[in-house]
Parts: sequence; C-alpha cells; structure tokens
Amino acid sequence: MPELPEVETVRRGLALELANRKIISIERSKFDLRRPIPVNLNVQLVGRYIVNFARRGKYLLLRLDNLQTLLIHLGMSGRMIIHKKDYPNVSQHDHLQINFEDGFRLVYTDPRRFGVIDLIDTSSEENHPSLARMGPEPLSEDFKGNNLEFLLQDRQINIKAALLDQRILAGIGNIYACEALFYAGISPKRLAKNVKGKRAEMLSEAIVSVLERAIDAGGSSLRDYANTSGELGYFQHNFAVYGREGKLCHRCGRKIIRIIQNGRSTFYCSWDQR
Ligand SMILES: [Zn+2]
Repeated sequence: MPELPEVETVRRGLALELANRKIISIERSKFDLRRPIPVNLNVQLVGRYIVNFARRGKYLLLRLDNLQTLLIHLGMSGRMIIHKKDYPNVSQHDHLQINFEDGFRLVYTDPRRFGVIDLIDTSSEENHPSLARMGPEPLSEDFKGNNLEFLLQDRQINIKAALLDQRILAGIGNIYACEALFYAGISPKRLAKNVKGKRAEMLSEAIVSVLERAIDAGGSSLRDYANTSGELGYFQHNFAVYGREGKLCHRCGRKIIRIIQNGRSTFYCSWDQR
C-alpha cells in the first residue's frame, strides 16, 4: 500500500512528464472506486493543463488551470502509469485514462478499487472531507523542532496505532510506522501519551529520516522508470524490520517478531525497542 514516499515519488514523476502538456481527452471505466468518480470529469479536464503537482499526506493534488483540483488517492492497490505512444490494451482494472499532447497517456489502474478520484475547487481543497482533519506533514517545517510530543499527548492508544492515524500525522502507513519505531528504539506497544521528551525527539527524527531515505530511493527509481514499465512510485526497499519476521535484527542479532495490533501486522525487535 502506497505511503507518503511512494505518493511523493508518483507526484515527482507526474510533474516531470506532464507539466506544460495539454489534456486532450479522457476515458473512464464504468466502475466506481471507493466513491463514485465525478461525472463532470470530461468537461473539467479536457483542454486544461496541470499547473501544480502537489501532495497532502497520501493524496495527490493535481491543480488545473481552471482552478479545479483533481484529487487522487491510490487506496490499497492503485497505480499510476505513464505511456508514451506505445500503448498496451486497456485492462478491466484501468479506471481512468488521461491523454495529453505529444502522445503521453496517464493511466490509473486499481484492481481492488479502494482508491479515490475526485474533483474539487482548488480554493477550498482543505475543506475536502479527506483533508479537513488531517494532521501535519512530517516533512514540513511545522513538524521540525518537536511538536510530536504535543501531537501524542493524552492519546490512550499504542504508539503504532497513533502513527497510523492520519488525523495525528499525515502520510504514514504500516511500513514506515514499523521502521520509524525501530530506529527510535520504541516499542510499538508503548502508550502514545508516554512517548515524550527524549523519546518523542528520537521518534520525530526517525520518522523524518525513514521518509527522506525512502523518497531518495524513489528518486533514483524515477531516473530509470522510463526504461521499464512507465509505472511510478514503486521501488526497491531495504527495510530493517518490516516484512522480516524471523530474520535477524541488524542491531542485536536476535529475531524480529511480528504481532497483530488493531488488525495490522507490526514487525519489531523486542530487545532494541522498549
Ligand atoms: Zn534488535
């Protein structure tokens, strides 16, 4: 499931290829995603340019020159693929296809259809139900210094669940929550309100550093994506704990364990994380 670094990589790839190209036509499937795809998409998109490629949490905000914003969430399995002239056949999972000048085609494909495509006024983006209650961006100036302790105060839930809550902090999902907790040496079972002082500082730094490293890895993947499938945002990772149940911890040599918290797998080292 795409998290902040994957979505950021998609954003950069789209900006790289689609800036200053006019939209000439769109095609959509008959299926809806998590919510219906707006019916006026054709009218609002055709003839327009995307003038700003933004991101908020795990949402892409593609701002058009008619003051509309195309809002996209990749859900569980959504993918964005750019084709240049050599188009494959349309699959049943391709839900939106946007054709640009010069033969560029952007395809949104999503087998599980948990994604979201919406069209909103750019001026009232922050009132959109998906964005209105979202917490700060972990890579923004607002998050630097240390307000993580403030964000976590009085939270009677485990720290892993708190990191996944988009109302507390934007953009983090299961993978980067596990990774950040490992690098901060904090048990995923610790109560969120008890993560404070030095611990909150360590966690704050670990969050920024795991996200920045992943974005860098995504950046390298962008340099050669055109030679592969044209798919944006998925790249090779080296995780310390995520997906490594039973493998050895790089720090202490003991086995990484997996537990279930709130229905999701958590991977961690019970020796290094307290
Ligand atoms: Zn360890």
